Amino acid sequence: MAQSSPVQTARGPVEAAGLGRVLMHEHVFVLTADVQSNYPSEWGDEDERVADAVRRLRELPSAGISTIVDVTVIGQGRNIARIKRIAEQVPELNIVVATGIYTFDAVPMFFWQRARETMTEFFVRDITEGVTDTGIKAGMLKCAVDEKGLTEGVERVLRAVARAHVATGGTPITIHTHAAGKHGPAIVAVLKAEGVDLSRVVLGHSGDAVRDPDYLAAMADTGLTLGMDRFGIDHFATFTERSDLVVEMCRRGYAHRMVLAHDTCCYIDWFGPGRLDDLKDWHYLHVSQDVLPYLREHDVAGADIDAMLVANPARILAG
Ligand SMILES: [Zn+2]
Repeated sequence: MAQSSPVQTARGPVEAAGLGRVLMHEHVFVLTADVQSNYPSEWGDEDERVADAVRRLRELPSAGISTIVDVTVIGQGRNIARIKRIAEQVPELNIVVATGIYTFDAVPMFFWQRARETMTEFFVRDITEGVTDTGIKAGMLKCAVDEKGLTEGVERVLRAVARAHVATGGTPITIHTHAAGKHGPAIVAVLKAEGVDLSRVVLGHSGDAVRDPDYLAAMADTGLTLGMDRFGIDHFATFTERSDLVVEMCRRGYAHRMVLAHDTCCYIDWFGPGRLDDLKDWHYLHVSQDVLPYLREHDVAGADIDAMLVANPARILAG
């Protein structure tokens, strides 16, 4: 068993024991970078956006959350210099940043005609040397397998992520999935073939699979962890459905194989003004304020809540 290593955050390394309660899949901003650089009017003033993020993230520590993982990667407008500026103003909160590529189909054109190793080299550089000149090292790898499943491009990214994980001694991986597609077994087959340590993998958006606890149990039995990480996104499953699924999986003994989050952000440019206004609970405090009380009322033990928010994230992030 490898010794646990410090976890890289936007303000430097933190020991696993210092992570506290962790939300394992959040964003600060999700942007379409080249659209924003050409049509910035909706985004508005950079300083105001940063100040808004600082204000919202400062609410987390008083709600008991000490760490978030910002899983924003290439394809989602990652800007680590901006995250650094925000993190410096929220010293009570650890922000772990990620590397990887978010695509549901083809690889970005930049990588299309390049050597297959290029992607892996970029990810490894972010993890070992840091992102651009920020000095911030990525603490998690991220990719996506959506409705189309393992297309040629998606599989190429998944393998590049897996190879960066192996090359860096087990950097954790989170994978956006389309729960209804049940791509878990195909994903696990690729990860196993690449020699990935499944105890460092989160099968993201598993909480959307509200009618498939058996599928989730089978996936958790492989050793990976289920991301119950979209609390507040009622479009896929309601609060009660998501919470009841966590209750059921705890009842089945899987608290040690789940992590919690919202997959929320301070601003996302994918939907247009007003389109997400009905998601009243899609914010960083929903788990603390609403989900945890519901779980306790439904006989989820305090030890299980600690597992999902503290022990499991520490194990995944630090090894
Ligand atoms: Zn996300």
